[in-house]
Parts: sequence; C-alpha cells; structure tokens
Amino acid sequence: MSDDGLSRRQYLSTVGGTAVTVSLAGCFGGGGGDGSTEITAGTAPGFPPFEMKQDGELVGFDIDLLEAVIDETDYTLAGWEEYEFKSLIPALTNENIDVVAAGMTINDERDQTIDFTDPYYSSNQAIVVREDGDFAPSSLSDLAGRPIGAQKGTTGETTVQDELISPGNLDESNYNSYGNYVLAVEDLQNGNIDAVVIDEPVAQTFAAQRPVTIAFTYETGENFGFGVRDGDDEFTQALNDGLSTVRDGSTYQDLTNKWFGQQ
Ligand code: GLN
Repeated sequence: MSDDGLSRRQYLSTVGGTAVTVSLAGCFGGGGGDGSTEITAGTAPGFPPFEMKQDGELVGFDIDLLEAVIDETDYTLAGWEEYEFKSLIPALTNENIDVVAAGMTINDERDQTIDFTDPYYSSNQAIVVREDGDFAPSSLSDLAGRPIGAQKGTTGETTVQDELISPGNLDESNYNSYGNYVLAVEDLQNGNIDAVVIDEPVAQTFAAQRPVTIAFTYETGENFGFGVRDGDDEFTQALNDGLSTVRDGSTYQDLTNKWFGQQ
C-alpha cells in the first residue's frame, strides 16, 4: 500500500481504472471493475474442514469466512492461490498473495515477519492414532521412540520439536515431516508412523472420515488469524472490521454450523 497518505483505494477511486495499477509496483494486484482494489488470497488445502479440495474445488470454513469478510469491505477478491502450508508466508511477503487464510496460528515467531488480523478460531493440538491399533498414548512422553508425523512449518511440528525432540524424549529420526496433513494421516493409516500431531478441529474431522482417532489433546491455546503483510494496515483494519461485522451477524455462526456441525 502507498505510504504517501493517499490510500491505495482512494488513489484508485480518484484516478480509477486498471491501467494505472500496473505502475503501482509493490502494491496490491489490480483494480476491480468498480474501482475497488483486488486482492489475492492464499491457502493450503488438506486441512479439513478449514480448506480442502472437493471434486477438484477448493472449499472450507476459511474459504467461506474470508469471502464473507471481504464482502464487507471495499476490496474485491481476485481469486485463490494454493500452496504448501510452509510456502504461504514467503508467498505473502513476496506479494504473490495478499492474505493467508489457512488455519494459521497467530504466534510471536510469525509476527516478526507478517501481521495477523484479529483471531477467528481457537485450537489446541491433538495426537491422532490408528483407530484399530493397540497404541493408545495418553501423554506426549508416551510417544518416545515411536515414529510420528506432522505437517512442515506448523505449530504441530513446533510441538514435536519443543516438547519431544529438544528435551531428548524423541530422536529426530523418528520425526516425519509432511508437505500436508493428508499425507501424514495416510502414512498413519498405512502403519508407517504411529501418531500425527495436528490441530484438534482438523483431527476431529479426520477421525470422522477415516479409521483414526484422537488419543489425547495437548493444550496450546492457539488462535487462528488471517495473515497479512506487515505494514498493510489499512487492509488489515478493513478485514478486522469485516470480521467483526460477520461475527456480529449470523454469518459466522452459520458457517460454523455448516463446517463443524451444530455447536
Ligand atoms: N494451526 C497450525 C499452524 O498454524 C496448522 C495450520 C495448517 O496446517 N494449515 O501452524
């Protein structure tokens, strides 16, 4: 966004048209037909029910929620780009996308590189095992010596690193890092690993759809936010205002019911 006091949106509505937008390097992609600023969203499918592919189509709570939030703003959504989870923050800082909607936990480490909107969902970690297996861990220390997995670049991976590998309870060679959680859960089903560390609402979805179950949860008190570029303050504010409108009305509850069942 421009730093000259004239906001991108004001600038576009002043001069209008898409032709000028190409000269505004470093800002958002282009102009909507009505003079609004177009933004591109990024996500990482394979994280149901937040984002997944259904019959080739990208669907999920994050998709619906971000679209509803953007509808409340003066911005227009140009489209969605799909990445592996670990590539979303680089894609955002490289300006390939303008906002991340991927069940991304707000934390200090990420906050050093990007900004977040207000939280829109909370989660803990869950430890998922095979439903028909005889391995029934009840605490992280029970995972010692077992092959386990998580998705690259996630807080699940951080939990494994900080709570198991660093204290010496798990050898690094027992930890398997996957490009997405679907692959991790498939490897669990196949017997290649014995547990997956994953966000609880996603664990519940996998448990409902596959022969896996939650052995126990590990409280992390995480909050998901939409990721935005550092310094895109006007856009962030618009998203926060949109989010609070969506939360105050029935939309947020409707989407929660749709994707997580009646709460
Ligand atoms: N909430 C976790 C994180 O932010 C996992 C997100 C995901 O896998 N999409 O790291």
